Amino acid sequence: MLLFTPGPTPVLESVRQAMATPTIHHRTPEFEAIFAQARASLFELFGMEENVMLAASGTGAMQACILNLCKTKILTINAGKFGERFGKIADALSIPKVELSYEWNTPADPLEVKEALLQNPDIDALAIQVSESAGGLRHPVEAIAKIAKEINPSIMVIVDGITAVGVEPIDTTHIDALIAGSQKAFMLPPGLATIGLSKDAVATIGEGRDYYFNLATEIKNQRKNTTAWTAATTLIIGLNAMFDEVKKNGGIEALYDDTQKRAKATIASLRALGLEIYPQTPALSMSTVIDVQAEDIRKILKSKYQVNIAGGQDHLKGKIFRINQMGIIPAYEIVWVLNAIELALDELGRRVFDGEASRIFNEVYFKGSFS
Ligand SMILES: *Cc1c(COP(=O)(O)O)cnc(C)c1O
Repeated sequence: MLLFTPGPTPVLESVRQAMATPTIHHRTPEFEAIFAQARASLFELFGMEENVMLAASGTGAMQACILNLCKTKILTINAGKFGERFGKIADALSIPKVELSYEWNTPADPLEVKEALLQNPDIDALAIQVSESAGGLRHPVEAIAKIAKEINPSIMVIVDGITAVGVEPIDTTHIDALIAGSQKAFMLPPGLATIGLSKDAVATIGEGRDYYFNLATEIKNQRKNTTAWTAATTLIIGLNAMFDEVKKNGGIEALYDDTQKRAKATIASLRALGLEIYPQTPALSMSTVIDVQAEDIRKILKSKYQVNIAGGQDHLKGKIFRINQMGIIPAYEIVWVLNAIELALDELGRRVFDGEASRIFNEVYFKGSFS
């Protein structure tokens, strides 16, 4: 079965092998060396002042950021499940919030963010996704972060990059916390989250808040290549193996280029089949189609062509399907996925199969047309 869900993503063979080695103790020079290597790779990838790894799923890192960076009131952007989650975390922590809501295909408007910040001068943090995975939507994070800092230079800009870090280069100039999670673009099993932090974020954290998610305690320990609590040793070993694979495949820039090309070619191919792309501004992390027969297509893909793609949630349940673009993906796999979609449309009586899906993908991806 080809796993093409936008999280979890497949774990490469070499990474699985690396994680199959015997367990080592986390308070040892051996593990400190492994940790140091992972930390150096993360600093290079994020390009930020500080970085912490947490034994948690992505949501844990989202909560850690709100706990440690927001003291008064938060502005959350809700254009899907994950933006909604920032708001729910604030509610659970009894932190007052202002929420801007959008349909799941609609990017947040920087001017509305500006308006909300001007009307609520007590807002000290803003939380948003780069790529909102619920609808495969790309928010204009860079523009929003810039406007937020113009209005209030000390506002903490918390950015969920769980389906963006490792997918595309992110300008962190105005970002204070950038979150990544292991089971998405990092091509690892779930359980490891990492946060890139700005200099201002580190200062704002101060003594930190919370016990498990006290980022001050983590920073203090991780600067010494250890963690406050037992580290996710196996996943960190896997992380190093993943970075090795990226290097072997031409480096991170090559991965960014390939992801962009693949995502673009996929969208051209889906459109050529007469399918409708759901988000107004598609993220590179996944390709999302809105279709009345989304579930039928998904079922045929799984039962006949060994392809597992994701559906929608909440009001989009049964109405969309999402194809993963995160990670190192061989072209022959995504071509097979598109071919299977074309065959499914034929089976559903929508369109006679003529090989258009792979033809268009190949033209764009390999021949560079429509660029
Ligand atoms: C998957 C995902 C999360 C949540 O991560 P968990 O690991 O499930 O806690 C948060 N934000 C985005 C954008 C995601 O795609």
